Amino acid sequence: MNEPSKEYGLREGVGHEPRRTFAIISHPDAGKTTLTEKLLLFGGAIREAGAVKGKKARRHATSDWMEIEKQRGISVTSTVLQFSYKNRRINILDTPGHEDFSEDTYRTLTAADSAVMLIDAAKGVEPQTIKLFEVCAMRGIPIFTFINKLDREGKEPLALLEEIEEVLGIRSCPMNWPIGMGQGFLGIYNRSDNRFERFTGRGEEMKSIQADDIESEQLRAELGDELHDKLQEEVMLLDIAGDPFDAELVAQGKLTPVFFGSAIANFGVETFLNQFIELAPPPGPRKTDEGLVEPTDDAFSGFVFKIQANMNPAHRDRVAFIRMCSGKFERGMNVTHVRTGKKISLAQPQQFFGQGREIIDEAFPGDIIGIFDPGSFRIGDTLCETGRFNFEKLPQFSPEHFARVYVKNTLKYKQFHKGLEQLAEEGAIQVYRQVNRTEDMVLGAVGQLQFEVFQYRMKAEYGAEVELTYLPYSIARWIETSDDLDKLNYDRYSNLVVRDQDDHLVMLFPNEFATRWVVEKNPNVVLHTTSFGL
Ligand code: GDP
Repeated sequence: MNEPSKEYGLREGVGHEPRRTFAIISHPDAGKTTLTEKLLLFGGAIREAGAVKGKKARRHATSDWMEIEKQRGISVTSTVLQFSYKNRRINILDTPGHEDFSEDTYRTLTAADSAVMLIDAAKGVEPQTIKLFEVCAMRGIPIFTFINKLDREGKEPLALLEEIEEVLGIRSCPMNWPIGMGQGFLGIYNRSDNRFERFTGRGEEMKSIQADDIESEQLRAELGDELHDKLQEEVMLLDIAGDPFDAELVAQGKLTPVFFGSAIANFGVETFLNQFIELAPPPGPRKTDEGLVEPTDDAFSGFVFKIQANMNPAHRDRVAFIRMCSGKFERGMNVTHVRTGKKISLAQPQQFFGQGREIIDEAFPGDIIGIFDPGSFRIGDTLCETGRFNFEKLPQFSPEHFARVYVKNTLKYKQFHKGLEQLAEEGAIQVYRQVNRTEDMVLGAVGQLQFEVFQYRMKAEYGAEVELTYLPYSIARWIETSDDLDKLNYDRYSNLVVRDQDDHLVMLFPNEFATRWVVEKNPNVVLHTTSFGL
């Protein structure tokens, strides 16, 4: 798919390693931390297993990062991990692996060029995987699947493929195939080169056999008659009835290459990584209001996809994370902050490894840089060296929790509004205004934890104590209609019409049934699950 030698970055004179920027999407406990750690080991970014978790633990012990994070013992925000591997610079966008995730997780995916979907072989496709998958599918980015925990009893591989296709609606193409499972897990068979990799258990060196073809006697001797017959049968079925590998379809996000393994035993991970870096796309062109920006364009450009406030409450600092899209970044360079028209100097750029920060001197398209934000950035802002274009707006995603918000002390009204506005701009929470009672503010959050963070920060940073009344809605839909609002046919007792920060109309629903009712009763109305494209 991507000829490495022709790729940008390896071209003469450019002189930097080509980037592979991706996120791992999964449901909590599928093994994302474990897989990330193994990937970092291969990249030499850490020397021993346990470093990622260890870092996390240390951080909780020593840092004064948000109280709430300490109390809950979880990571509220995501960062980026970078390492080199086989002439590639890999950027893993880390997303919080907690049940109670937020919009940050979704937005992080807008900075990725591809995604690795991690699935627990025993659990199959789980709810959070579905949600995150949908965001990737919306952007049409390539999705690679790693089916984990083959060292434990799980679902049959063919059943797992069927589940992926049925639940997610994406075709799949297994790149390797597992032999046995759980106690009887023997290893994987690579379809492209007929290599069998024997599972030897944790910590032991992996053995592999290079077979001429699947009928190989050597393979039969290694697997035994029964498992060899089963392997032949299943692979034949894949050859005949399965989807063939098609790089074009993978690039379009219509076909997912599937790999099997066991992250904890570090089995199948290297094989996955080697194929992944060949198949995963380099940074591509990005849409702006003035056409496409290519990574090979000379001038620097990038967009803010995440703002992390309060990393150190003593300094009240905010860091804006920028996904670089073109040019070369150099420390101290001047760029235009397009929304305000101001020139700013990128003086203290940082790169993040876990929570450790490092000042960087240069960066390239695909990289993520963190810069100190004095409070002037908003999610989605564009920074560019020349010109004044804007990257596509980042979408707002349908929250699942809603609450009316009031300030406890009306004398703090000004601080309350300032806090609301800034936290909404930062993307910490969605803020809506009720259409017929505009003084009524409604908050929307993808995860419940966002409310707690919001409440905490309103008090700590703006001095405004707030009260929340939870509302019985669980779905937001952006409304596209040419009709008058008065003509909208809906049940005023169970739905609420509000406007978002951009003044788009949004309707809140208690359930899917209510959304279908509105669609049926209003033929001129289209409901959208995100603000994307509005
Ligand atoms: P995360 O929540 O997705 O980051 O998951 P973790 O990496 O923390 O893993 C969740 C649990 O699954 C931990 O107890 C891991 O030790 C375990 N685990 C991860 N990968 C494997 C695997 O390949 N096999 C088995 N048996 N357990 C695994």
